[in-house]
Formats: sequence, C-alpha cells, structure tokens
Amino acid sequence: MDPNIAVNIYHFLSQTRELFGDELFVQKSNAIENRSSDNKFPESLEEFYSQINNCLNCQLGYKRTKFVFGVGDPNADLLLVGEAPGVDEDRLGEPFVGRAGKLLDKILAAIHLNRNKGVYICNVLKCRPPNNRDPLPSEVDQCEPYLQHQIRLIKPKLIVALGRVAGKTLLKHDVPLKAMREKIHYYENIPLIVTYHPAALLRNSGFKPPTWKDFQWIQSILDGKTNIG
Ligand code: SF4
Repeated sequence: MDPNIAVNIYHFLSQTRELFGDELFVQKSNAIENRSSDNKFPESLEEFYSQINNCLNCQLGYKRTKFVFGVGDPNADLLLVGEAPGVDEDRLGEPFVGRAGKLLDKILAAIHLNRNKGVYICNVLKCRPPNNRDPLPSEVDQCEPYLQHQIRLIKPKLIVALGRVAGKTLLKHDVPLKAMREKIHYYENIPLIVTYHPAALLRNSGFKPPTWKDFQWIQSILDGKTNIG
C-alpha cells in the first residue's frame, strides 16, 4: 500500500478513536513503522530537527503554524520541559516566548543561566493544541519519543518540568502540583523536579516565593552543592 494512504487512514482512525473511545482498535501500519525506521538515530539536535520538523503523526501537525522543536545549549546540564506550545510559541516557532518566557529568562538569569548557556528548553508536544487545551494521551504517545530522543542527545544532569500538566505527563501520575514539588523524581533515569509554570506566576504572584525556592534548589544541585544521590 502507498505509505501516504496508510498514514492518512491511520490518522483518520486515531481521530475517530478520540471521538468514540477505545472500542475501535487502531494499529499502526507497517508503512508508518517502516517510515520511522528509515531515519537512523540522529547524531545531533540539528539532524534530529531535520528528520522530524514535518511530522504529521498526530492531528496537531495539520493545525500548527510552526513546529516548536526547542532552543538552547545542546550540551545543557539543565533541561526545562513544558507541556506544549502556546499561541506565541506556535507563531514564532520557539518555546517559552511572550510574557511567561520573559519571566522564565529572568528566573534563569538569577541563577546565572540563560537560553544559550547551560539550559535547553522544549515541550513534550512540538505542536500547539487548539485553544491551549491539555495534550491528549494519544498526542503524548505520538510525540513523547521525540522528547526522549532529545534527552539522549543532550544528556542533561537535571530535568525540570514546568507546571502540573508537564509534570503529570512525564511522571504518568495525575496528582496536584504541590504533591509533585520538592521531590526528586526520575524520567529516562535522569533526576526530575517539578515546579510552577511561569505563566502561573503571572496569574498568581503568591507562587513566586516557592518557585524561587525551587530554582535555588536547582542551582544548588547543578553546582554540586546538594547531593541528590
Ligand atoms: S504534536 Fe508531535 S506527534 Fe503531533 S504532529 Fe506535532 S510533532 Fe508530530
């Protein structure tokens, strides 16, 4: 079968499942698996970007303005992960821009880091969900392997999930943010901390002190002053 026809059928069935539930069994076609396996494991983020930036593996690819791969130091010790691009990110193709992004830059500067030095920033999903809704499980299933490839290339010492949705998506555990904070979790065998999303700080300044406490802890871990085992 023509691989494009197989891909379109798969997308149609996936969307139908989202509407009608799991009673409809959807199996990835061999054409899709073969298409994925055509790409050898990338040796750099640039190579990986060129392999996936036209991705249409889920419905979000058909609606995006720009694919939002990630930005920052390819050898970063700190990887910041949000849930998905918002409207500004979709327009500009860069994660964490706009007011929340500027606030994040200020927080990073306070611990002597910036987007080009020691930090890489990306999202679990590379395309914007409509109306900034939470990612669907089927979208995460399709897109999370890209994040895992990025992690294998960057090899960060520490991952920080920004916000409850990013935290629960990575940890596969739907609990309030407070229950995820101030703990060391692991993702892909790398220590992971969950803190507030910078957009939450813009909505509620009461979240700023605990966020600052988290970033001081993050700095201490990165500087080797706090041993996390
Ligand atoms: S969200 Fe991820 S899986 Fe879906 S189309 Fe975009 S890059 Fe592909």
